[in-house]
Amino acid sequence: MSATATTERVFNFSAGPAALPVSVLQEIQDELLCYPGAGASVMELSHRGKVFIQIMEEAEASIRSLFGISDDYAVLLLQGGAALQFSMIPCNLLRDSGKSASYLLTGAWGKKAIGEAKKEGTVDTIYSAADTGFDRVPKAGDYTVKDDSAYLYYCSNETIEGVQFQSEPECPTSVPLISDASSDFLSRPLDIDKYGLIYACAQKNAGPAGVTVVVIRRDLLEMGSDKLPGYLNYKNHADNDSMWNTPPTFPIYVLGKVAKWLSSDIGGLAAMEKLNHEKSNLLYQVIDKYPEFYLGHAQVDCRSKMNATFNLPSSGLLEAFVSEAGKNNLQNLKGHRSVGGIRASVYNAMPLEGAQALASFMDDFAAKNG
Ligand SMILES: *Cc1c(COP(=O)(O)O)cnc(C)c1O
Repeated sequence: MSATATTERVFNFSAGPAALPVSVLQEIQDELLCYPGAGASVMELSHRGKVFIQIMEEAEASIRSLFGISDDYAVLLLQGGAALQFSMIPCNLLRDSGKSASYLLTGAWGKKAIGEAKKEGTVDTIYSAADTGFDRVPKAGDYTVKDDSAYLYYCSNETIEGVQFQSEPECPTSVPLISDASSDFLSRPLDIDKYGLIYACAQKNAGPAGVTVVVIRRDLLEMGSDKLPGYLNYKNHADNDSMWNTPPTFPIYVLGKVAKWLSSDIGGLAAMEKLNHEKSNLLYQVIDKYPEFYLGHAQVDCRSKMNATFNLPSSGLLEAFVSEAGKNNLQNLKGHRSVGGIRASVYNAMPLEGAQALASFMDDFAAKNG
């Protein structure tokens, strides 16, 4: 990357597609015209050729090693985004099962997932935080899961509202636990053995748009009916190493680089979690310093380490905040159109300096305008 291009980069707080590590972008730039030894760009290589198969195997191996995923699980690299998983999950695990599926509803993405699941079977929304504007997640005892549920589904980090489960929700061992981890995947260590299935689209925290990682316990691969459209059946993807059809080769290549960056530059998921905690704390400390000025959306113990959401006392101040932040190279801070306010996304690739710069701007802005 030329010196100018690098220095002109802003601190990008976009909720997704979101910032990628600069060193990863630079490596991609170096290899764009000619992947070492391949004589062509990654984009121009057959997915069945030796070079790309190695890229794909390494990407999968890196993700497996970061989480310590055992061979009891398949790691699938799919298209269709998180949205397709809203349907694929109930298509495989709910349709014609004679069971109902349990959902914990803590935000906009969970709501969409429920809408899609209802097309495939019976859905029990056993917990909803809708009545308080999705500002919280359940505590143990706030809901009951039937022992014969098809699965228990939740969204670990509701990207729009900025509420996050600090750990997995209680779930009977007989019921597969399913998580939409799209916006906090690879942000912290997880015990994958607790899950039946966990998935994430890449464009928040793991890579560019176009690839979705699905980690699925192998016994669940057998649940989809042969009558499903082939792409929708997890088993087809697992049996063909995610090459049942052409996989999204370029996004997989970038995902692999991000995973390697996490282990070699950051030092693994525990180190990443510590850094993410530090970054989000900087923002929440300023919010707590000016509680009448920065109106935090999430209840304190449910705050997201990925997306800090807050409002200001008036729309005039909100506009001034966004515009002055922009002048300070702090970009893409506007909240989702459905919630308003500010949303600062500090995913893995946001450097500590970015969070420091935003926290210091917030402090000045409140002191001046509060
Ligand atoms: C962004 C997001 C989605 C939607 O992802 P698509 O790839 O656009 O389908 C779903 N769930 C969560 C938690 C998200 O952050």
